[in-house]
Amino acid sequence: MRVLVTGGAGYIGSHTCVALIEAGYTPLVLDNLCNSSPVSLDRVAQISGTRPQFIEGDVRDAALLTGLFESHDIAAVIHFAGLKAVGESVEQPLAYYDNNVSGTVTLLQAMQNAGVNRIIFSSSATVYGDPASVPIREDFPLSATNPYGRSKLMIEEMLGDLHLAHPDWRIARLRYFNPVGAHASGLIGEDPQGIPNNLMPYITQVAIGRRDKLRVFGGDWPTPDGTGVRDYIHVMDLAEGHVAALDYLLKNEGLFTVNLGSGQGYSVLQMLHALGRASHQTLAHEIVARRAGDIAECWADPAAALALLGWQTRRSLDDICADAWRWQQANPMGYAE
Ligand code: NAD
Ligand code: UDP
Repeated sequence: MRVLVTGGAGYIGSHTCVALIEAGYTPLVLDNLCNSSPVSLDRVAQISGTRPQFIEGDVRDAALLTGLFESHDIAAVIHFAGLKAVGESVEQPLAYYDNNVSGTVTLLQAMQNAGVNRIIFSSSATVYGDPASVPIREDFPLSATNPYGRSKLMIEEMLGDLHLAHPDWRIARLRYFNPVGAHASGLIGEDPQGIPNNLMPYITQVAIGRRDKLRVFGGDWPTPDGTGVRDYIHVMDLAEGHVAALDYLLKNEGLFTVNLGSGQGYSVLQMLHALGRASHQTLAHEIVARRAGDIAECWADPAAALALLGWQTRRSLDDICADAWRWQQANPMGYAE
């Protein structure tokens, strides 16, 4: 069964292609490569024995999408394509609304015209803003503090409206917590361009010697060790969450929204020390000022995903660090080599 994977050459998309192939699905990747390398798909082929069919193109290209749906029998869409850097979204809001929001409108219109009505959307825990308490449940209030987060909220609402108007649509809104780690082969992983914004790729670049030390954004948060706490989810657990959502949508009608997280929070220093153990080094760090817009704690109540999809995370913090380190060691400069 063929599944269109927009953004399938990217970090989460490439891992999800592996999980889809392993589950017997046929991914068809559409990606404009604005934040990824097609080498990731060669590596997916190395891991799985199957190279996903790849179309280089943009989800905002309506004519391309029309042709794509006409020429391929597509059962469902997993929609990863979008821009994801919070700081950049503050500087270039229109680029984010165009890519994320308009791109999704164009995709949904093409799907509707083609009679394809199953979609899985990459939302984010950022839609909870600064939660009043943790763990975070799906019924918590939603808010956004930057254009990236607002684009995710707008798309969630758009999907809700679409389902209200057309109840035959089958829609999954998946709210990811912090995806980290890499496939256990070390062949695919996260390959950020420039200086990493996110914690884990920054730490692995310190470990490989590309950065001198981790700057810890704030040591005075109201958390056990004073550093920020997040719910880090192994990217292959996340990928398998998409397969579970797809299996569900093929069997059930309706729209659902679930957190994809582990239900466990770790602090910045815990992550640094765990990667230090995996790489057999003491990693240097310095506590600096808090980062604008950060929150103290963000971790999931993942009970809904377990109840609805039968999915929960299987991989531990040690698995995350071992796999992230294997990827970083084998690919010190990412896919560029
Ligand atoms: P990524 O940048 O590695 O992957 C996104 C892919 O989409 C890239 O390959 C990029 O080239 C492609 N793309 C972007 N705009 C496109 C367009 N207009 N047309 C076609 N392709 C386009 O990012 P990721 O970490 O794999 O994230 C995937 C999705 O998950 C994104 O929507 C992101 O917002 C969401 N998400 C990510 C995280 C995270 O921390 N990584 C957390 C929550 C949600
Ligand atoms: N963080 C940090 N130094 C960095 C990058 C991140 O101390 O160079 C902290 C950040 O303040 C937060 C945690 O690590 O507490 C996770 O940050 P990330 O940007 O990866 O995810 P998000 O903040 O979006 O949950």
